[in-house]
Amino acid sequence: MQRPDLKGNFEEFGGRFVPETLMSLVVDLEKTFNALKKDKGFKKEFAFYLREYAGRPTNLYFACSLSEKLKTLKVYLKREDLLHTGAHKINNTLGQILVARRMGKTRIIAETGAGQHGVATATAAALFGLKCDVYMGEKDIERQALNVFRMKLLGAKVIPVTSGSKTLKDAMNEAIRDWVTNVKNTFYIIGSVAGPHPYPMMVREFQKIIGIEARKQFLAKEKKLPDYLVACVGGGSNALGLFHPFFNDKKVKMIGVEAAGYGLNTDKHSAAILKGKTGVLHGSKSKLLQTKDGQIREVHSIAAGLDYPGVGPEHAYYKKIGRADYVAVDDKQAIKGLKLLCKTEGILPALESSHAIGYLEKLAKKVKRKSSVIVCLSGRGDKDVYELKEIV
Ligand SMILES: *Cc1c(COP(=O)(O)O)cnc(C)c1O
Repeated sequence: MQRPDLKGNFEEFGGRFVPETLMSLVVDLEKTFNALKKDKGFKKEFAFYLREYAGRPTNLYFACSLSEKLKTLKVYLKREDLLHTGAHKINNTLGQILVARRMGKTRIIAETGAGQHGVATATAAALFGLKCDVYMGEKDIERQALNVFRMKLLGAKVIPVTSGSKTLKDAMNEAIRDWVTNVKNTFYIIGSVAGPHPYPMMVREFQKIIGIEARKQFLAKEKKLPDYLVACVGGGSNALGLFHPFFNDKKVKMIGVEAAGYGLNTDKHSAAILKGKTGVLHGSKSKLLQTKDGQIREVHSIAAGLDYPGVGPEHAYYKKIGRADYVAVDDKQAIKGLKLLCKTEGILPALESSHAIGYLEKLAKKVKRKSSVIVCLSGRGDKDVYELKEIV
């Protein structure tokens, strides 16, 4: 059975919960994307920009010192941190902007929390000379001044959102409002495997290059498949990008690492799969962190990119059918992971990716025999050094 099905459902998750005014637009986008997915010219164009502009393929690096330290694990890192702009997000924004161009759209909008998706979108928009407006909560604008400046340098306009909690979820609502008003010329670039169908599927299709490359590279080096895949989960795009091409390799275990923030027993975390309830957010049904009366909860993670109250519907589905396991790593363990990779390998990972690294010690103790693991190193940590300086 194909997932998602033709209506965008991953069993009870996913779907398309949008106002009537947007329905024809998302249906139009779905038709366009389904046609482009099979279009040789489009595939070639996407591959061209990934290669020439973003820097693909990324290395699958054997982390020898880290593996020695962990003893029972042979660790390979998929180096998405080496891409242009320093993270996997560029795979998706390049893909979507190429779709926007094919649809004749002249204006791009996006929403951003930490600013990383905003920067990746502004980058792609600059490359193709498209107008770009990025919605961002007022609170986030204060917290992420550097990324705001970056977006402006790239020619994007950052629009402050002053409603609600003045953070990501409010920015998403504003972006959707803008989209409804300006459907004719505007394309909405969503930053993870979330949103109404076809977005979760489309973003996965753009990110699955991570797993396609990693699978091939691992086979070439080890002449077999890995025992484990590990990736951090915010909305879930780098994780699905790595996981999806291994879906039918039943022996390969997948582990998604959510952010436990101050701890899963506090209300300051963002572990939507482990602690969330089924509900609808931003156009699709999935697991999300909500209060007793169904309001979206404030969430926390030291990693700005994991600080999202929901998760992509395909992860809720993977969890339900048991295809992937989900665990959580708190702020402290993530910092420990970051330091470990710095010291053993000379690689400064993003705080998001540090959650995946932070889980390895636990995994190393759990495995019964020497096992191999591919970790998605979703981004580099240069963006985090200011914040780290305050706490480390
Ligand atoms: C945004 C971001 C994430 C989280 O997003 P996903 O959609 O879960 O991949 C993870 N790592 C980095 C470096 C990011 O910038």
